[in-house]
Amino acid sequence: MTTHTKDTVDVIVVGGGIGGLANALALTQKGLRVRVLERAAEFGEVGAGLQIAPNCTRILEHWGLLDEVRSLGVLPENIVMKDAVDGSELTRLDLKDVEARYGAPYLVIHRSDLHGALLRACQGAGSTS
Ligand SMILES: Cc1cc2nc3c(=O)[nH]c(=O)nc-3n(C[C@H](O)[C@H](O)[C@H](O)COP(=O)(O)OP(=O)(O)OC[C@H]3O[C@@H](n4cnc5c(N)ncnc54)[C@H](O)[C@@H]3O)c2cc1C
Repeated sequence: MTTHTKDTVDVIVVGGGIGGLANALALTQKGLRVRVLERAAEFGEVGAGLQIAPNCTRILEHWGLLDEVRSLGVLPENIVMKDAVDGSELTRLDLKDVEARYGAPYLVIHRSDLHGALLRACQGAGSTS
C-alpha cells in the first residue's frame, strides 16, 4: 500500500501541451495525483486552428469540458474543398447533422483556447504545472 503525503504524486506527465494536459486530466479523474512538468516558463498563444471531430468532442463532454470548448470554438456548417487554381468548388461535406448522427459535435477552435480549457480543468483538479 502506498502512503500519500501532501507532496506525493502517482504520475508525472512531462510536457504540458494538448496531449500532456489531456492525459493529466484523465488520470486525475481516475483518482490519481498528477504533476505536469512543462519546460516553457509560461503558456502562450501558440498554434493555429484545430478541427475537433466527434470522437474527440465526446471525450471533452465526458470530462465536463464540452460546453466551455463549444463556447470558445465555432461549429462549421460545411467543409468545402476548392480548386487552388480557379477557386471552383470541388466537393462539400454537410456538417449540420453531425451532432445528431454521432452524438457529439464537429467544431473548430484555436489551439490556445482548447489548451486553456484543459489547463483550467487540470488546475481545478489539482494537477500542478
Ligand atoms: C499546423 C497544424 C495544424 C494542426 N491541425 C490539427 C487539427 O486540425 N486537429 C487536430 O486534432 N490536430 C491538429 N494538429 C496537431 C495537434 O496540434 C498536435 O497533435 C497536438 O497539439 C500535439 O500535442 P502534444 O501535447 O503532443 O504536443 P505539443 O502541443 O507540442 O506540446 C508539447 C509540450 O511539451 C513541452 N516539452 C517538450 N519537451 C519537454 C521536456 N523535456 N520537459 C518539459 N516539457 C517539455 C513543450 O514545451 C510543449 O509545451 C495540427 C498541428 C499543426 C502543426
